[in-house]
Amino acid sequence: MKVFVINSGSSSLKYQLLDMDTQQVMTTGLVERIGDSMGRISQKNWPDTPQQANIEEERPFADHHEAMHTVVNLVTGPGGVIASAEAIDAVGHRVVQGGETLFTSTCIDDAVVAQIRANCPLSPLHNPANLVGIEVARELFAGVPQVAVFDTEFHQTMPAEAFMYAIPYELYEELRIRRYGFHGTSHRYVAQQAAAMLGKRADEVNLITLHLGNGCSMAAVRQGQCIDTSMGMTPLAGVMMGTRSGDIDPAIIPFLMKEKGLDMAQIDDILNKKSGLKGICGMNDMRDIHAAAAQGDAKAALALSMFVYRIKQYIGAYYAVTGPLDALVFTAGIGENDDVVRGRVCAGLAHLGIEIDPERNGGRKKTATAVQAESSRVAVFVIPTNEELAIAQATQAVLA
Ligand code: ADP
Repeated sequence: MKVFVINSGSSSLKYQLLDMDTQQVMTTGLVERIGDSMGRISQKNWPDTPQQANIEEERPFADHHEAMHTVVNLVTGPGGVIASAEAIDAVGHRVVQGGETLFTSTCIDDAVVAQIRANCPLSPLHNPANLVGIEVARELFAGVPQVAVFDTEFHQTMPAEAFMYAIPYELYEELRIRRYGFHGTSHRYVAQQAAAMLGKRADEVNLITLHLGNGCSMAAVRQGQCIDTSMGMTPLAGVMMGTRSGDIDPAIIPFLMKEKGLDMAQIDDILNKKSGLKGICGMNDMRDIHAAAAQGDAKAALALSMFVYRIKQYIGAYYAVTGPLDALVFTAGIGENDDVVRGRVCAGLAHLGIEIDPERNGGRKKTATAVQAESSRVAVFVIPTNEELAIAQATQAVLA
């Protein structure tokens, strides 16, 4: 079975074609800066994929329609990775917000499209872009089953005490204001891998999963089910991120509006794009921050310390609710590649039974690796996430 996975963001489009019989990625690509005066497309084909060379090209893409047409032509057109669009058995779509109506991965029909559209107010940056991807794919792959896989679905098992905010209950009833959580596909994938590494069933393990990329989130997993997560109604909440603030005192918002005469759009821009690591030290790539801190840049050092401190606070909070912890699981760009952050997050947690082995922890991890010390009661795993494979697997499962 060949599954085409589409992950369309507000100005980008990630895609991957997977052969599920061999679990082989046939091609993977990214279109960036859709809608800008100049965009970019890059596509990497696996060596045993026939025909086409890899692609790296600067060119404008007016909108998602144009981007999708280009991509589908590259993948299925003459000289493409596979002979024709008919050779694709299913299309899997990442959809960010399933809200309270879409709990699990589901086959896309008009009713599902309408529900995804109805959830747009809860995710105004992502769901509309996901919908464009779905609409164009339904047109270009007419007759091919399409499946939506939601970022929120792994978190649907959270109890109300974890997902409710302590604001008037009517606001939840009227506007569905509550914690939803995101990165669920990644948290679920690494949780399943962690269970396998522990030699246990997925529903037997207690974990804290740390997805630390540009966006960062953590999840508390009890007996395989998510019981809490750090992102909230939107992906702005929780731990400190590359450019997003994470948790702040909500009273800062009206204070800023009053003192600086800012409107909602400006506040939104500050909290989503000018905060987090970038807000503190001007950089949001952890590699640059380490380099600057090593050169004595005090703000870079502060940003790093704040980033680590907040993660530790969440570990403490989740440790108290998961029950006896089996493993801490690091994933995504920082989690997989940054041994310094992993080491600092775990430092001083021996009293919780968490001890990292500096040698095992050293370096970037391209494959799942256990990095705890022999004496550690809790396992510490670094597990590369694979959201595209997880989406393709979910797509296959829905169609089965
Ligand atoms: P996204 O959330 O955009 O999918 P990724 O999971 O790819 O992001 O993570 C990107 C981030 O990972 C970069 O901004 C950078 O901070 C971090 N990163 C990538 N490689 C390294 C590395 N070798 N060392 C430290 N941090 C890294």
